Formats: sequence, C-alpha cells, structure tokens
Amino acid sequence: MHSLQQLTFLHRYAQLGSDFSSEVYPTPLPAPYLVSFNAAAARLLDLDSEAADRPDFAEHFCGNRIPPNARPLAMLYAGHQFGHFVSQLGDGRAILLGEICNAAGQFWEVQLKGAGATPYSRRGDGRAVLRSSIREYLCSEAMHGLGIPTSRALCIVGSDATVYRESAETAAVLTRLAPSHVRFGSFEVFFYRGQFEQVQTLADFVIENHYAEFANATDKYRLLLREITRSTAHLMAHWQAVGFCHGVMNTDNMSILGLTLDYGPFGFMENFNAGYICNHSDPQARYAYDQQPQIGLWNLSALAHALSKLIDETQRDEILEGYAAIYYEKYAALMGAKLGLKNPSISDLALITSWLQLLQNSQLDYTNTWRSLSNFSIASNAENHWLRNQFIDRAAFDEWAANYRARLHAEHSNDSERKVRMDAVNPKYILRNYLAQIAIERAEQQRDFSEVNRLLALLSKPFDEQPDMQNYAAPPPESARQIVVSCSS
Ligand code: AMP
Ligand code: MG
Repeated sequence: MHSLQQLTFLHRYAQLGSDFSSEVYPTPLPAPYLVSFNAAAARLLDLDSEAADRPDFAEHFCGNRIPPNARPLAMLYAGHQFGHFVSQLGDGRAILLGEICNAAGQFWEVQLKGAGATPYSRRGDGRAVLRSSIREYLCSEAMHGLGIPTSRALCIVGSDATVYRESAETAAVLTRLAPSHVRFGSFEVFFYRGQFEQVQTLADFVIENHYAEFANATDKYRLLLREITRSTAHLMAHWQAVGFCHGVMNTDNMSILGLTLDYGPFGFMENFNAGYICNHSDPQARYAYDQQPQIGLWNLSALAHALSKLIDETQRDEILEGYAAIYYEKYAALMGAKLGLKNPSISDLALITSWLQLLQNSQLDYTNTWRSLSNFSIASNAENHWLRNQFIDRAAFDEWAANYRARLHAEHSNDSERKVRMDAVNPKYILRNYLAQIAIERAEQQRDFSEVNRLLALLSKPFDEQPDMQNYAAPPPESARQIVVSCSS
C-alpha cells in the first residue's frame, strides 16, 4: 500500500503529443474539504485508506496541490451530440493527472472532474457542482456493485465556492478512475479535420495499451472495431437489464472500452415504462430507455465512419450488422438469468417481453417486482397470490405465469435453488433519484455527508438483503416521483 506521496504517475496518453491533449493546470479551489472517500477505489491505486485522513488530502484531490510527477492535461475530442456533429469538445472541466499502474499490473487513469477551465471549456466554467458530483460518485460505484462496466470514483472534494447553474450551487471535484477515458469522439475529432494520421496513431495507441491481444494481427483495426462493438452491445444489454437510462448517449460520452462513462442526468427506472426519458433536456426522446440499444449501434456507426481509412467498408458493415445478434444474445442471457433460467436463450425473448409488458401495464416498480419474482412457486398457484395481486390484469398475469411455469418445469427448476440464483442477479437496492436527493440535500444544507457514505456502502452490495436497510428498497414516495434531472451539472 502506498501513501499519497508515493503515488507514481505514468503518462502514456500525454506522450501522444500536443495534437491529442493540452497541458493545463487545475484552477485552485478555495477552502476545500473532503466530502467522501471510497476505500474500494483507493485499493485500485494501491492507495492506503489512511491517505484520506491526511489534512492535505483534499488539497491534492481538488487540484490545489499537484503531485510532483503528475502531468496535468485535458484530452481533446469531438462528438455527435443529439445526432449533430460538434467539431470540437474535449475535457472542458476534467483534468488528467496521469495513470497509476497498480501491483496487479492494471493501469488506472486519474482524472479530476470539475478542476477548472481548460482550452476546451468553450463557454463553460470548468466546474462541477456538488449535486452532480455526488450523483456520479454514487452511481458509478452502484454500477460497479451491479457488475456493470463503468468508470470508478475515488473521492469527492467540496468547497463553498459558488457555481451558477439554474440556481447558485457549490463546487466540487470528483476524482474519476478508468483504464482509459478515450471516447468514440476522440477518433471523430481527427477524422473530420482530415487528420487521418492522428486517427491511426490513436487507434494504434488504444490497441497497444488496451487491446494488446491483437496488436500483431494484420487486421488489427478491424479487430478493434469488432471488440468495441461487442463491448458496447454488452453494455447496452446490461443497462437494459438493470433498468438504467444514461440520458446523454452522445458519441463523446461513449467509452472505447465499453464502460459506462460521463454520468449526467441518468436515472434508474422505477415504475417500468419502456419509453422512459430520464433527461429533462431530451424532449425528442432520443435517449429514452427503449432507444438505448439502437443508439449504441448509431454511435458505433459514427465510430466506424471515423475509422473508414483504416477498415474497408465491407468489413465495417459486416461488424455493424453483427451488433444486433450480439446484443440480443447478451440481453437474453441477462434477462433469462433474472427469470432464474439455467440455460436462457434467444427463444426466451417472448417470455421476457411479455413479462415487461405486464410490468408496464400495471405500472410496477421494475427493481422490486423482479426481486419479488424469486419467490414464485412452481407447484402452487395459491402461493403466488401476493405476486398476482400486484397486477391489474390478473388474467394476463395468469397466462404469463402458466408459460413461465412450463418453461421452469422443462428445465426441472427447483424453487429454492432458483431463488438463490435470482437474488444474485436481481438487485434489492438501486440508486433511486429520491435517495440520491436526500443525500444531496443533507450535504448541501448541513454539510452532513453521512448519507452519501451510507448509500456508497449500501450500493456496493446491491444484491444482499442488508436487513437494517430495508427502507432503502422502497419505491419513491409520491412527492418524490417527479424529481426532474436536467443536463446541467
Ligand atoms: P457532457 O455531455 O456533460 O459529457 O459534456 C459535454 C461537453 O461539455 C464536454 O466537452 C464537457 O467537458 C463540457 N462541459 C460540460 N460542463 C462543463 C463546464 N461546466 N465547464 C466546461 N466544460 C463543460
Ligand atoms: Mg461528456
């Protein structure tokens, strides 16, 4: 384990040169204080958990003090935002310190999000507010707890400095970790400028550092696109299965490692609604829940186009045409596991779809209804009354239950064994907006961060019963159902 002083940064991305990033130092933040520290993420850096007790910890993780061997920079990228190409974005408020190679040989980039303006800030102030930092912090760790690929979060440092969004809020810096923050838009920026050499340099960089297994293949660029397609399709299946809505699936927010990246106005579905829109600033419903898988493909097409000098058209098309099959296979596997099936397959999609239709028609809580399905009895209809009674259309439920029962019989399913399997994949706890909101209000109004820490601990084990935390599994109270989440963060 290392102390803060012993962290040694490497600079592989910086070595790509000034076409790819801009050197920039964080803007000091007045009187920073630690909001929350995540010991699990610290272990990824081999960072001693006592590091957070040091009086200067907050100074380091808001960017006021830069470790001697850090080389702070902002990464350049472009992106398709809501379908329209924006030729230059880049890290407008995130500053990369470098990467840490831990004892296990894993590389983690360390980024300070909200650390001040960069050459890519456009009209932004380079800051992040405490509210959105808490949301990203909790959600990225919740996703990790759910087994979904994601960036991680080490800590939040706050300050009383005012930041103006729809109203005056306070500033915070989130320390984000990911093996790579390269996005689809990192390729697009060079392609649309006609800088094809840089596209290739970046592709080589990504392959060498993140897809080393095919670094020597003659068709390595094709394999790169194929792998990003696979991991993106899998990520979409994971999001759908857990009812997660990202909210801003622009190509600049799409990770080349298939990680959930850039948490903004995300939301976990509560009452099931296939058309759910979590982002108040998306009136066209471009990024609604049921659009996500096809937007994943749209974004991959944009990436493939940016790689068109490296991979011929037939091969690009072939890869993109394979997306749907990869997606559906993973989706069926994840949803079938949620149903407790031992060998789920594409042929179970009808059973899955009809179950979702039942949830939608009865406006049932997505997470809790799945969780309660693990108590389904094959033998006795009578024992399923508690479940049946939740549905408005009982006849429709009976019809579905008969099909489910037949499917379970066919694989000789055993109730108690199935319950264990289902409880391991159907979470009891998710980051509900109202839970995040309570933690945010306490933090903002009372500088009380205990609720942030409580949720962090809760959501790191989302499948465990955690008997004294039962209240946190409750659907939102009526008054909190309409919490509006906008893009502003
Ligand atoms: P997003 O969709 O939130 O991931 O952000 C889109 C782009 O806007 C990225 O280039 C961000 O770095 C930039 N951005 C967002 N908020 C700010 C801000 N407050 N200051 C500067 N740049 C920002
Ligand atoms: Mg972004």
